Amino acid sequence: MNPAAAPTLELVRVSRHYGEGALRVLALDDVSLSVSRGEMVAVMGPSGSGKSTLLTIAGSLERPSAGEVRIDGVALADRSRAELARLRRSTIGFVFQDFNLLPGLSAAENVSLPLELDGLAARRARAEAREALATMGLETKADRFPDELSGGERQRVAIARAVVGERHLVLADEPSGALDSHNAEAVMSQIRAACHRGVAAVVVTHDEHLALLADRVVRLRDGRLDAPERAEAR
Ligand code: ADP
Repeated sequence: MNPAAAPTLELVRVSRHYGEGALRVLALDDVSLSVSRGEMVAVMGPSGSGKSTLLTIAGSLERPSAGEVRIDGVALADRSRAELARLRRSTIGFVFQDFNLLPGLSAAENVSLPLELDGLAARRARAEAREALATMGLETKADRFPDELSGGERQRVAIARAVVGERHLVLADEPSGALDSHNAEAVMSQIRAACHRGVAAVVVTHDEHLALLADRVVRLRDGRLDAPERAEAR
């Protein structure tokens, strides 16, 4: 499958419920969303509207109750658990609000870890990690440990880790939520720049101003997408 031929991420009429009977919650209700290479989509919506569920399902960490998720044109339902784990390591980068860097590893080691877990020789993995850090403007900070970096720098390391190697789908949950406005905008700009290099990104944010840095903004309300998909295409 040529990854350029299909959208990087497609959610087709995806629903997801939790619980049963009186406790049943419909977290996502018939959501369709397509994100192509080079595209950055911001997801907004009140607390409990389904934003995290959308990212979790897009990242193959949970299966939908109905509908289909495709990554690079391949339906996730057709893949085994082992294949999904491999897909997550090779293709998908997650960025969280609290950075999730390992404190005992340097910036370069944090970034190279997913490549090494995927079987790449340590030397090559470190070289690719340094390259990814350089694209984030962190070439001089590669050997620092997370507690020797600012919050904004730590988040840029997390983004480098999300795009290192061949990874080309970034799923970010409030990546700028713990940062001041200057660093928040810098982090969103780095994701934007990664998209210019061919990555597809879905970024949850509460901040209307930051959402404007995306190509499209989609809004969730009670598990449903408010705006018609593609309404604001670049
Ligand atoms: P958001 O990220 O927009 O705050 P979530 O996706 O976390 O929203 O949640 C959407 C809805 O699904 C909420 O009502 C939430 O309580 C419910 N929900 C999410 N995850 C679970 C779960 N694992 N078990 C039960 N309910 C859940």
